[in-house]
Amino acid sequence: MPDGTPLTGKHLIAGQWVASDATFTSDPVTGEPATFCSGGAAEIDAAVTAAEEAFATYGWTSRETRAKFLEAIADEIEARGADLTAYGSAETGLPEARLNGERGRTTGQLRMFADHIRKGDYLDVRHDAALPDRQPLPRPDLKLVQRPLGPVGVFGASNFPLAFSTAGGDTAAALAAGCPVIYKGHPGHPATGEIVAQAIDAAIKKTGMPAGTFGFVQSNTNEAGEALVKHPLIRAVGFTGSFRGGKALFDLAMSRPEPIPFFGELGSINPVFVFPEALAKRGAATGEGWAGSLTMGVGQFCTNPGVVVLPAGSDGDAFRDAAVAVLDGTDAQPMLTGGTAEGYARGVEQTAKAARQITQAKPAPKRCGVPAVFEVTAEDWLSKPELAHEMFGPAAILVRTDSPEEMLAVAKSFEGQLTTTIQMEDGDIQAVQPLIPVLERMAGRILANGFPTGVEVADAMVHGGPFPASTNFGATSVGSLGIRRFLRPVSYQNLPAALLPADLQES
Ligand code: NAP
Repeated sequence: MPDGTPLTGKHLIAGQWVASDATFTSDPVTGEPATFCSGGAAEIDAAVTAAEEAFATYGWTSRETRAKFLEAIADEIEARGADLTAYGSAETGLPEARLNGERGRTTGQLRMFADHIRKGDYLDVRHDAALPDRQPLPRPDLKLVQRPLGPVGVFGASNFPLAFSTAGGDTAAALAAGCPVIYKGHPGHPATGEIVAQAIDAAIKKTGMPAGTFGFVQSNTNEAGEALVKHPLIRAVGFTGSFRGGKALFDLAMSRPEPIPFFGELGSINPVFVFPEALAKRGAATGEGWAGSLTMGVGQFCTNPGVVVLPAGSDGDAFRDAAVAVLDGTDAQPMLTGGTAEGYARGVEQTAKAARQITQAKPAPKRCGVPAVFEVTAEDWLSKPELAHEMFGPAAILVRTDSPEEMLAVAKSFEGQLTTTIQMEDGDIQAVQPLIPVLERMAGRILANGFPTGVEVADAMVHGGPFPASTNFGATSVGSLGIRRFLRPVSYQNLPAALLPADLQES
């Protein structure tokens, strides 16, 4: 498929592009707004019903068939590469290089899941052979394999228009598992979303998958999202987005007559702990590096390092002063949506009521964000829990500690996080040791040195963490382990081989 595909502004339901009466207008950072259909409960019902129908076939396809389908989606996305970059950049304000990189990550995820299911380890096949002569009772023949859940609802986030959106990690993992997907389009990047949906549609047709395997409903109201989570045929939800949105939909999933798993990847403030030897050896350089990580993508990352815990004193001051110099020299940048910029400004204003701002308080042009860093003592931090909230943008708080005990007390104050980082040298190992059990309970990923922005898509990655970083209790939304969320173990006792799923017949 060549680049330059026209937009339809419609939903993809049961393999057809269909319109609905209500519409909304996009709000791109650059270029002309466009009109898109805004679906509701009726469109969701049609898409989910088609997905349930598709599951009867798709849920029983071979792993090879699904692997080829995932690879076809990746190929179709690549064929639309220039369009995706142009639309994505115009709609979100993210630079072209970032969109190109994110496209590579998205197609890489699809191909990683293709390889992963071909290997088959994820099926965790177990067999307890029958023991007919066992006393006092015989043992039956038991075989266990992971089976797909059924239709899955997926929501993506504004800050990753490709890798955490229409064909992002949740969609790839669910399709790999054998689950049809209904994706609720993100109103922050509706054109980008539609082009990706067109790519999936083309892959469905090329590889002969059932029409309802993937549905796409655009909307700018809560109605479609709520209907998706409440639909009785939906078996699980993958969500990436804000704590507010994720918690509202999580509560909805739990209050259904039949509750379903809700895998929400939410916000995080990703604390960084800087230790004395690291500060003494490279305080200023680490401060500059941290400032770079904080402002990357205008700070719009769930892994943004939004709190730094470091000792009071001159070495810590060197970190702070170097970071502030970089941040004061950083211009205001356009944010993803008008709402993101307003939310960020509100967050900074709230923090300014409880903490001292140490970067220049510059006015931000419309829809833009300027870096803002605050400094507090450990005592302040511990007495003001309102400071521990995500400011989604290039803002952060430095917490200055007077002793290792105080650093430990601050570490214990954090709620669940996606990541936590230790800046350390070899000489710091003994001082870091008591923190490790605290950090392990706090975060899904612990890093030594470096910064948490930039999440490797790999087998050993965990992108999740205790609530409220996610509602992914024991799961990840990045990396091959993410497939587990959309599978359920089924045990087959004494079933004739002819009735077993193909993955067990091979074992
Ligand atoms: P968002 O406002 O929560 O939106 C995410 C999606 O959920 C959108 O499609 C949105 O549609 C829908 N939604 C939100 N609330 C809803 C409700 N009450 N009912 C029905 N649908 C609802 O999040 P965002 O602004 O796009 O993304 C930024 C946030 O995502 C940040 O907090 C960031 O930290 C987080 N994030 C987390 C990760 C991670 O992996 N943990 C990755 C990236 C981003 P509508 O706009 O139409 O409501």
